[in-house]
Amino acid sequence: MTLREAVVDLGAVRHNATALAQRVAPARLMVVVKADAYGHGRVEIARAVVAAGIRDLGALDVETALALREAGIPRDVTVLAWHHGPGEHFGAAIDAGVALGVSQLSELERIRSASSASAASVHLKIDTGLHRNGATEQDWPPLVVRAIELQREGILRIDGVFTHIAEASEDEDTAAMRRFERAIALAESRGAAFAVRHLAASSAGFRRADVRFDMVRMGGHVWGIPSFDGITPEEMGLVPALTLTARVTHLEIGSDDRVRRAEVPLGFVDGVPPNARGRVEVAIRGRRYRLDGAIEHGAFTVTVDDVVELGDPVTLFGPGSHGEQTVRQWGDLTGTLGDEIVARIHPRVPRRYLP
Ligand SMILES: *Cc1c(COP(=O)(O)O)cnc(C)c1O
Repeated sequence: MTLREAVVDLGAVRHNATALAQRVAPARLMVVVKADAYGHGRVEIARAVVAAGIRDLGALDVETALALREAGIPRDVTVLAWHHGPGEHFGAAIDAGVALGVSQLSELERIRSASSASAASVHLKIDTGLHRNGATEQDWPPLVVRAIELQREGILRIDGVFTHIAEASEDEDTAAMRRFERAIALAESRGAAFAVRHLAASSAGFRRADVRFDMVRMGGHVWGIPSFDGITPEEMGLVPALTLTARVTHLEIGSDDRVRRAEVPLGFVDGVPPNARGRVEVAIRGRRYRLDGAIEHGAFTVTVDDVVELGDPVTLFGPGSHGEQTVRQWGDLTGTLGDEIVARIHPRVPRRYLP
């Protein structure tokens, strides 16, 4: 181990992807690798889950989707991008066989102008209450009508329809699902047909069979981070994939000759939440120590006892196999999401992959 590293266990990722795919079956599992797979490494994660049989990847944007294709993710694996800047012209994406989520008429026109040799695969996106991305109820009928026209012209193929939901309350999710179903019915009445309908992400998709439709899109659960309270990864059959560790680089010995404080070279710049002090614990030699010292730019300190030695590995969070907390626990203790903590681990922290 180097001075500090984030170790990503690809075996755990494959295990989680397989377990989740089985759970949501007969719906398919799309693995969402946006934000560099929440800090786990988009290409490595994509390769691992494809090796585990996953056939759908969510890229968020075209840049990520193209990076996956360039890394060798084959064309029989769907890669979907749905978040587009106004300058995105789609030509390269269509040529690379990237499926495009479409929320606006202007996006359809840009696909038309891209005049690629092949037809674009399109998933129409409807807003069902999240107000983030997706056609509004007003914009939906003209979007559908135009997409059907362009399908007739051979410019595109309408392959799917989707929405994104809040997953904060069952009732809201159910209401969003009803709006989704009405939007689909309306589009079908205009002549559209959708092979793949998808709405749910990790949280609702795990718990509710009725929201799964043909596909569930998951990020967090695939790397073993529960997206809802009151359940451990283990109880869900999942293994946290990322372990954040560093070595003790300095020991300050107290006056009675017992070890007092260890310095660990991970700071807030590396992604340790500044408010973790006093809230979380780290594990050294299988024992837990409250992270009680200051979290500085590139290091934190922790009060330890005399069993700790210079160079000892310190585990911040991981699957728990060395007595450490999980990142979900860190999220709970610091008032954020485990997903957010892993996504913020700085690129300067080297990633190491266990096959
Ligand atoms: C990020 C994202 C997901 C995955 O969310 P998780 O809660 O991490 O499973 C699914 N769908 C869309 C549209 C997303 O942006």
